[in-house]
Amino acid sequence: MYRTHTCGELRLPDAGKTVTLAGWVQRARDLGGLTFVDLRDRFGITQLSFNMERDQALCEQARELGREFVVQATGTVRERESKNTQIPTGEIELIVTELKVLNGAKTPPFTIEEETDGGEELRMKYRYLDLRRPNVRRHFELRHRMALEVRNFLGGQGFLEVETPVLIKSTPEGARDFVVPSRMHPGEFYALPQSPQTFKQLLMVAGFDRYFQLVKCFRDEDLRADRQPEFTQIDCEMAFVEQEDVLTTFEGLAKHLFRSIHGLEFNEPFPRMTFTEAMRDYGCDKPDLRFGMKFHELNDLAQGKGFKVFDEAGLVVGINATGCAGWSRKQTDALIDFVKRPQIGATGIVFLRRTADGLKSTVDKFYAPEDLALWAERLALEEGDLACIMAGPAEKTRKQLNELRLHLGDLLGLRDPKVFKPLWVVDFPLLEQDEEAGHWHAMHHPFTAPKPEDADRLESDPGSVKANAYDLVINGTEIGGGSIRIHDRTLQERMFRVLGFSDVEAREKFGFLMDAFEFGAPPHGGCAFGFDRWVALFGHRTDIREFIAFPKNNAGRDVMIDAPSPIEGEQLHELGLALREG
Ligand code: ASP
Repeated sequence: MYRTHTCGELRLPDAGKTVTLAGWVQRARDLGGLTFVDLRDRFGITQLSFNMERDQALCEQARELGREFVVQATGTVRERESKNTQIPTGEIELIVTELKVLNGAKTPPFTIEEETDGGEELRMKYRYLDLRRPNVRRHFELRHRMALEVRNFLGGQGFLEVETPVLIKSTPEGARDFVVPSRMHPGEFYALPQSPQTFKQLLMVAGFDRYFQLVKCFRDEDLRADRQPEFTQIDCEMAFVEQEDVLTTFEGLAKHLFRSIHGLEFNEPFPRMTFTEAMRDYGCDKPDLRFGMKFHELNDLAQGKGFKVFDEAGLVVGINATGCAGWSRKQTDALIDFVKRPQIGATGIVFLRRTADGLKSTVDKFYAPEDLALWAERLALEEGDLACIMAGPAEKTRKQLNELRLHLGDLLGLRDPKVFKPLWVVDFPLLEQDEEAGHWHAMHHPFTAPKPEDADRLESDPGSVKANAYDLVINGTEIGGGSIRIHDRTLQERMFRVLGFSDVEAREKFGFLMDAFEFGAPPHGGCAFGFDRWVALFGHRTDIREFIAFPKNNAGRDVMIDAPSPIEGEQLHELGLALREG
């Protein structure tokens, strides 16, 4: 037997027991006559104690231990003289009588402690060492607990977890597919699922009624802090449901997670906002509701007074940065620099402040005090407040002001990661028009149903058609989304036509699904949540890589195993991807 206890287990009542521990040497302290070794495993740290007088040979052996050596120690548990109140095992130590090195270790390339000196690249190359750090490990304990709670909750609601295949044919979710060449069918390829969308719909046709799966999905797109080429979804589907049923069920899941993981009770239903309201009031479809600063449109008040920038703009819109009237020129200039960055691309900001001396704007020469008073009223500008106003083409300006709003939220400390503000965004448009090419594409995916009352206009006025599609947003992060699906062949065919598929193409790609619709497909709908994102959010962090055991870096590489990497000519040939050399 390697051990009788873990390194996190022993307490004062265990004093006097003879035990055996095994773990890694966190650090050894040589105090002359005494040597202490902190022994670490997944469960904690226990102090091993050696004494020159008691056993010289053993003490000398302990002095030789290097960091991260794997050792086994047997001894007696004893109450410690100087207790460490920082750790649960801090009241005891092990008086070692037998020490065995199970394996040595090279000096690790970075410190394996909560605070480390290792840079990102190095930690990823030696991720197995990085994962030894307790704060990193805790991320995976959280992930595990959340996965269990998801399964408990959904299992309790009658959902069946079913695995769907990974080698499939393209399921469009708006990204590029990763493909896998087939050896047995040269020149042919599988696609990795961007989601199990079509399979879960087929499970509804199969009568499974309620399906879920914690499932890997693959999307070949540019990476960001909250995106990885492979990621995990909580994927769900339900038969015989309307939007309301889906929202209620998954609001239940979210509340269960808030309660079981964070002890938070949400007694009220989550707020809901239509897509149109979200765009109008926050300039984005996933507003962060931890703070206000709603948009206020000023076109009617600010145009026609001779200020060209506003007169020529499609939209003049402002927000109230409460309490910021006292900001210095340097601070407001920094805001202008922020919105002028190429990523945002705005031309500037007009400021209006209300101080004890009244209203003062950066465009005073164009506007009478009465005009500014009307702006202030619209923006609910109280004494001490600063309004930031932007102007330009409507859609672009909304996006830019959204960036500024979030930036101000950060600057003012209004985006506390420990505060959670969930929100349902509903009534998304079914389709979106490509600005340049002019064609329509599905805003969610092509299986989303138009709202029944809008279905007539699918061909005549596609832009006006809304869908029973919804997103769950928490703190400005899209945690998940879904929709009520098309379950009728004719409607699905019309949808593909609007999306520019020829009937032949549609049949080739999705014939199996449309065929299934002819064998008694029940009305159905569902959703999927980004599990990595949800865990990161619950861990109060933004980078999902911290919650993925072996993530890819920003260039999509796994620097530890060095993937992707070239394959041999022979293998290429076998896959029908290259001619045999020579
Ligand atoms: N398949 C969708 C997605 O991955 C979610 C859904 O509609 O259920 O975003």
